[in-house]
Amino acid sequence: MIQITMPLNFLGTVYREIRQALVDMSEMFDLLEQQGDVEDKSGADVLKVTGAAVRLEAVDFGYDTNRPILKGVTLDVPAGQTVAVVGPSGSGKSTIGRLLFRFYDVQAGRVLIDGQDVRDVTQASLHAAIGVVPQDTVLFNDTVGYNIGYGRAGATQAEIEEAARAAQIHDFIASLPEGYATQVGERGLKLSGGEKQRVGIARTLLKNPPILLLDEATSALDTQTEREIQGALARAAEGRTVIMIAHRLSTVANADRIVVLDQGVVVEEGTHSDLLARQGRYAALWQRQASEDAEEAA
Ligand code: ADP
Ligand code: MG
Repeated sequence: MIQITMPLNFLGTVYREIRQALVDMSEMFDLLEQQGDVEDKSGADVLKVTGAAVRLEAVDFGYDTNRPILKGVTLDVPAGQTVAVVGPSGSGKSTIGRLLFRFYDVQAGRVLIDGQDVRDVTQASLHAAIGVVPQDTVLFNDTVGYNIGYGRAGATQAEIEEAARAAQIHDFIASLPEGYATQVGERGLKLSGGEKQRVGIARTLLKNPPILLLDEATSALDTQTEREIQGALARAAEGRTVIMIAHRLSTVANADRIVVLDQGVVVEEGTHSDLLARQGRYAALWQRQASEDAEEAA
């Protein structure tokens, strides 16, 4: 008996690990839509996070070398601050996230975390330092507790609940007849878009990364749900360095700084009020969205 049980347990563990790896990958795949194929350099160091300052320095990048996507982009995200990146679809916003994860290497310039070039550190330590809330959180067909808990292997029930509280989804889960043991996903309870995003936020909070990347984290939600989720996101951002990629400008007005990207070039940057006063690209986008919102509300 023992000889059979042990390999089965072992296989169970391996299966869980493989599934976790696949899901982590599929989530990134989703967010970042594709995966590069860079390798750790030999003798790569472990990333040492001190304040978690992020800097892109004069970055040139193209998926295809003869079609540049980012052109001389410099982006500074000081430790503990929130910087928003806005701009039209296709302007290169998500590409910045992919380069931060080092799914691709830059063609010129550098990507730095606390002064360390991402090419010089192990991808494992790099990925551990960055949490992502993508546009659409992927749920597995498992319990809601599992779906939050895999944010960090070995998390206790108490830790899972604490993350859920911070993401403002605990009360909802607790109200379900089976609580955290409720099956969700395609074969279980269908969560609304807003509930799914809260599960995604809870998962990321449990991972507790010093750097948070929000890539259109609320753009699939209606305006009302988006507003409701802002509180959970603000809580997630506390004490972290945050890069917030957003389409709807109402979500970025409170960022420490806003960077406007157009066709791979930083065309404006400053605070919301700086940029409105400048009456340039951002101010025009803001006017347009404000009138669209007014129409929507009318
Ligand atoms: P945004 O997030 O601002 O909408 P992206 O950073 O996703 O824009 O994409 C910027 C540009 O890069 C787009 O023109 C897009 O089509 C192109 N792009 C994205 N991924 C790839 C890829 N794997 N191969 C070639 N082009 C790509
Ligand atoms: Mg994008």
